[in-house]
Order: sequence, then structure tokens, then C-alpha cells
Amino acid sequence: MARASGLASPDGSTRPTIFAEMTALAQSTGAANLGQGFPDGDGPEWIREIASAAIRDGANQYPPGRGIPELRQAIAAHQLRHYGIELDPEREVLVTAGATEAIAAAVLAFAGPGDEVVTLEPFYDSYAAAIAMAGAAHVTVPLVPGPDGFRLDSAALDAAVSERTRLILLNTPHNPTGTVLSRDELQLVADAARRADALLVTDEVYEHLTFDGDAHTPVATLPGMAERTLTISSAGKTFSLTGWKIGWIAGPAELIEAVTAIKQFLTYAGGAPFQPAIARALVDGDADIAELRDSLSARRDLLVAGLREAGFEVVVPGGTYFVCADAAPFLAEGDDGAAFARALPGRIGVAGVPISAFCHEGSAAAQALSSWVRFTFVKDERTLRTAVERLRELGGAGREPLR
Ligand SMILES: *Cc1c(COP(=O)(O)O)cnc(C)c1O
Repeated sequence: MARASGLASPDGSTRPTIFAEMTALAQSTGAANLGQGFPDGDGPEWIREIASAAIRDGANQYPPGRGIPELRQAIAAHQLRHYGIELDPEREVLVTAGATEAIAAAVLAFAGPGDEVVTLEPFYDSYAAAIAMAGAAHVTVPLVPGPDGFRLDSAALDAAVSERTRLILLNTPHNPTGTVLSRDELQLVADAARRADALLVTDEVYEHLTFDGDAHTPVATLPGMAERTLTISSAGKTFSLTGWKIGWIAGPAELIEAVTAIKQFLTYAGGAPFQPAIARALVDGDADIAELRDSLSARRDLLVAGLREAGFEVVVPGGTYFVCADAAPFLAEGDDGAAFARALPGRIGVAGVPISAFCHEGSAAAQALSSWVRFTFVKDERTLRTAVERLRELGGAGREPLR
């Protein structure tokens, strides 16, 4: 297998991600784009004003490689205030070019040929790419849909984690399923990491976007886990500023040192005028976060109800931007979710992303979820209502919801 096999088509060309493909298709057909997960509005104006002022005031050259002190302090204060996690902003916090760079730098820092990296499946697409770049093997644990949502398969977890496991790369709240892992599930992962003496890297970019009073628990807060856990988050999702690419990674100083060594030669540094703005947002942005969470929760309800009315089986997400729906009732003979998603913009003017895009080709999870599609509700209400109306045209209206 080619070392970077996760990155290119069999002919060696770079393939556009399914997200870019679906967005292009949505644009060319005028479809309501519930595919790619980015907000269609801007983040809070007061935060954008701080960045504008920073550009006017000269924050236009390389910031420090680890991030400006003010932002590192704000990240440490945020972790303490929300979760009781104590961090030294000098040595235990690193600012990155979004969560994406933090993920890549952490995987490259700790995993290499001969190592295994364990993730949930379905998984965020950059995980497979980062693991492939590191030359490590990607082992997955399926999340299985049931009456309580997509849940961790604990037997599969035990089978996947072994002495070859160097890293467990966890994601909660989880994209694409919307699962917020329970404390018990997190404890299973923590126990597995300890048994294998593996590091835990957790992607918590949706930490503030949980619904129904469901609180997010960082793995680093579990007893004994802080010393082997690196926590990643980002301002993109929390403040609807995905284009700013201000992320961070936090944890034990010697682990952050190793990640910094890699990050230095990925981007070195970035986002100079955005850093002071996010520093303020992390300190003074709680009301904006609450407003986003409430409005997202209402938009989730709107889309979930619309999908159910249209005849989809839906798993109600506890967090994130996304809902997963089973398109099985609408599939023509021999079709799967990918064929359905590719046809949907032309057929009724709605775009979504097949769950198979978040799975290894042919894996057990890919097969189990082959008819499932992910839709985002981080769009304005009008777009969502348009999408819901169009989904009714699929002809499933009036069907009893499956659950
Ligand atoms: C959006 C997203 C990211 C990327 O975050 P950036 O800060 O934009 O790099 C990482 N992980 C998950 C699960 C995401 O949904």
C-alpha cells in the first residue's frame, strides 16, 4: 500500500473531497446545501471588530510560533472555568491553524510506521489523511445506531486497542453522528488507553454545541487521564468563524513540546489579527455561545422533524452541526447513500453527504451505514424550511416514522 494512500485516487491524482464535490453540485443545481458544515452567517460582530482593529493597529506579521500570550492565557482560563482543567499557558498550550493542524501535528508527532492509531468510525475525514501521512495504520471502532443514538461498541473497542496502539484519536461531540459520548463511554476509552499505554488525543471542536442540557465532558478530566491526554479545540465552530482557523491543543508540557516541533514546520504560525479577537471571545463570549447553542438546537428540531415527516429514520444528535438520516426507504434497487446523495440535488434541490464518506471503503461501519446520509442544520431557517419542503417531494410523506 502506498504510504499516502489515504490522500489520493488510485491513479495518484488528488481527489476533491466529497464535501467540495457536494458543494459544487449544490451550487450548480441551486440546491439547499445541507452538505458541507459551515455556517451561512457571520460570527459575532464585536469579535470581528477586534480583528479588524488588530489589522489596522499592526498585528500583521508573524505572531509567536506558540500563539500570542494573551490567547494562550485565555485558552488556559477557558479550560479552568468550564472544566476545572489547570494548564500552564507558557508550556501546556499551543495555538494552531485550526483544529485540523493540531490533529495533523499530534498524529505526526507520535505515530509512525508500525504504529496503530485508533479512531471511531465514521470519522472526520482529516483523521485518515493525517494517519496516512504519518505512515501509521488506522484502526477503527464503529459507532452503532440504536434507540439511544449512535453508541460506542465496547467489545469492538477492546478488540481494536492493543500494545500496537500508539494513539487513540477521539472525537466528542462527534462529527458526523452528533453523538456526545457519555461519561461511561469515555471511561471505557480511558481504560483502554491506559491498558495499552496509549496517548489520547481528543477533538472537542463542538464542546459548546450540545443540546438538551447535555454537557460535554473532556476526557482530560477523567481520573488519571490528564497526563496522557492532549485536548484539541477551535474557535471556528464555537463562534461561527470557521474561516479564521484559530485552533489549539493543550496537555502535558513534554507532549506539547513534541507537537510544537512538528507544527513549526507545518505553518509555523498564523492568524495574527484573529488571535487577539479569539482571546477576547473566549473570555467574554459566553452569551454568544449560549445564543448559538439555543438557535442551533431549534434548527436541529426543525430539520429532524422535517426529515422524519419526509420518511427518513433519524438519530437525534446530542450535539454538533449535524443529523444523520437513513435514506433506505428512498433507495432504488442497488443504490446506496452515496448514489442517493449525488442524485438528490438534481432530483429535489437538497444536498447532503453520504456517511460512507466518513468510513473506510468496505468496512463493517461503511456497510452498516451504507444507506445513511448526513445533513447539517447550521444554515439559516429559511434554507432549512426550503430543504424540508423539498424533502417532502421524495414521496415518503405520511409514512410512520420508523422510530
Ligand atoms: C470542523 C472540524 C474540524 C476542523 O476544525 P478547524 O478548526 O476548522 O480546523 C476538526 N474536527 C472536527 C470533528 C470538525 O468537525
